[in-house]
Amino acid sequence: MRKTIEILGVPFDVVTMDEAVERALGFLGEEGRHFICTPNPEIVMEAQKDKELMDILHQADLVIPDGIGVVWASRYAEEALPERVAGYDLTQRLFAALQDTQETFYFFGAAPGVSAKAAKRMQEVYPNLRIVGGHNGYFDEKEERRIIADIKKKQPSVLLVGLGAPKQEKWIYENIRLLNVKLCIGIGGCFDVMAGNVKRAPKAFRKLGLEWFYRLISQPSRWKRMLRLPLFVLEVRKRRRKS
Ligand code: UDP
Repeated sequence: MRKTIEILGVPFDVVTMDEAVERALGFLGEEGRHFICTPNPEIVMEAQKDKELMDILHQADLVIPDGIGVVWASRYAEEALPERVAGYDLTQRLFAALQDTQETFYFFGAAPGVSAKAAKRMQEVYPNLRIVGGHNGYFDEKEERRIIADIKKKQPSVLLVGLGAPKQEKWIYENIRLLNVKLCIGIGGCFDVMAGNVKRAPKAFRKLGLEWFYRLISQPSRWKRMLRLPLFVLEVRKRRRKS
């Protein structure tokens, strides 16, 4: 049975990384289409004022904590989340698990050229991985129809959507029923990392729960968005005092 806890109204699955991988692989064997969301504190804050996003998060089949701030905040919930389950790590685990199978992937999102570079690099790491197509994440309506037609034609098992939040969640929600895919995952900027254009924080930072700090110093343009982090902490504490 699915067990979730709510953090500022956003439901998170109480799962370890291993359990999240197992759940995602399970979706591939089930009937119907599934989607996974990977909110960090910024997205949780966004959902406070974006009801559509909040509703979508409530309808996702698996919601995993992409940011350590969410794991920290869960200490105030009825049950703590066991660990951070980053979208990037989850997709790498799926590549590893599915590389020698018939399951296929489609890379949709990021700037022109990035998803192709990401596919090429991932193919080097996982030689038998079946990446059947991809497209950048900048499109008008006409181009979008073409992208949807291409995804329909390629019929990937797993569609990775990296359009940034909340655009990717809304896109998945709106379009998943049109597509014959088994699983969609909103992965934010992961194609940039897979392509080697953006570096992930070194392991030491990640172990200490400081990936957010590394991102702030390595991509200072994000500082405005990251102002939401202290707001997230304050809001979690405020609600805690009220309950
Ligand atoms: N992006 C996109 N289309 C858009 C806006 C953004 O494909 O219209 C891509 C962007 O190029 C980047 C990703 O979405 O690869 C967002 O990355 P970010 O690190 O901001 O992700 P988040 O923090 O939202 O998960």
